[in-house]
Amino acid sequence: MTIKNIHIYGAGLSGLVAAINLVRNGYTVTVFEKEIRIGGSAKCHPSIHMTPMHIQDIQKYIGIKIDTCFSQLDTFRGYVGSKKYIFSTKNLFIVERGPRETSLDYFLYNIALREGVNFEFSKSLTKENLENIPENSIITTAGYSKLVSSLNLPYVTYKQFDIHKNIDIGNIAIAYFGNYSSDYGYISGKNGMISAQLSGPLNLSQENLKKFTELVKETEGIELNNWSSTISHFPKKVQLFTKYARKTFVLAGDIAGFLDPFFGFGINGALISGKIAAISHISKKKALQEFKQFKSNLNKNLLLQTIYWHLPFKNFIRSQVLKYQEKKLFPISRSIPGFSQEDWLKIV
Ligand SMILES: Cc1cc2nc3c(=O)[nH]c(=O)nc-3n(C[C@H](O)[C@H](O)[C@H](O)COP(=O)(O)OP(=O)(O)OC[C@H]3O[C@@H](n4cnc5c(N)ncnc54)[C@H](O)[C@@H]3O)c2cc1C
Repeated sequence: MTIKNIHIYGAGLSGLVAAINLVRNGYTVTVFEKEIRIGGSAKCHPSIHMTPMHIQDIQKYIGIKIDTCFSQLDTFRGYVGSKKYIFSTKNLFIVERGPRETSLDYFLYNIALREGVNFEFSKSLTKENLENIPENSIITTAGYSKLVSSLNLPYVTYKQFDIHKNIDIGNIAIAYFGNYSSDYGYISGKNGMISAQLSGPLNLSQENLKKFTELVKETEGIELNNWSSTISHFPKKVQLFTKYARKTFVLAGDIAGFLDPFFGFGINGALISGKIAAISHISKKKALQEFKQFKSNLNKNLLLQTIYWHLPFKNFIRSQVLKYQEKKLFPISRSIPGFSQEDWLKIV
């Protein structure tokens, strides 16, 4: 590919990593973002994310020093029903996302600005203008944009409730598994803030949310009111390129399927796939080689997730994943790019 002027759609993690890497290689880069500012949708952010990670490896891979945005998790506990479990915090980190100056998004945005990336805010990529964007544009608009279906990517639909609140409970993650969702709920805290999320299939109701909210109050004494809800489309397949209206586009982040389908860990995948999207403009062959490393494991896990949705006793199975150091669980560990089975077993 010899295009020197690159359009990137979506100023989230993968878009920003792609932009920084391309501008460093002499490209002129413009990032088009739907929102009026950096930090994604106000329905989901600001938020605090927890992620398994090898920070040194990841920052070496993406070529951007980001360790100051991450803190080691101090406490990780969970509830299966109302029974409490304490989990290991090894290799687990917590990071802020969204529009605040303390977020990873804001940190990457500042680097991108300094290095000469152009930004255009309030510019939404839609089904209608998809045909008019340049060939080889990078699309990184994540799962909550309608573009997953507009681009005809195969997907599953999730519903999620989100909330954030300014209280300081330290660098913490609390996971919840119970009969309020076949998926899970969680709370995480950092930078004097907590965010909470309850996700599940489309039939996740206000009644489920009420049950979860009451359990959080009972177990942790935290009151959560005024949730917002979002519908997300998660690709069923990992893809670096897609074709639309006879044009090829590059995908990265959630829309490319680069996230762990079981626990929704997407930070590693977004950072790594942003880098691969940038490489695709420099050397398509090298990008495909890099992509191959992650593709088959991620696809296996996306398939397992589809099977999992059809199983009974989902809550029980998911909670056991966290509870036992079970070697058979290796496919789940492999869905976090760069993470080995042994790394995963150190966490659980
Ligand atoms: C509330 C929440 C909690 C999460 N918790 C965790 C967690 O604890 N651990 C973890 O590892 N992962 C978590 N994830 C997943 C993680 O955030 C994603 O996997 C990661 O951000 C994906 O990066 P991305 O670049 O694909 O998208 P994002 O970082 O989400 O960025 C997408 C960008 O595209 C913009 N956009 C959307 N539509 C359009 C459009 N049509 N045109 C132009 N721009 C558009 C958005 O506004 C946004 O700025 C969570 C996600 C959410 C929403």
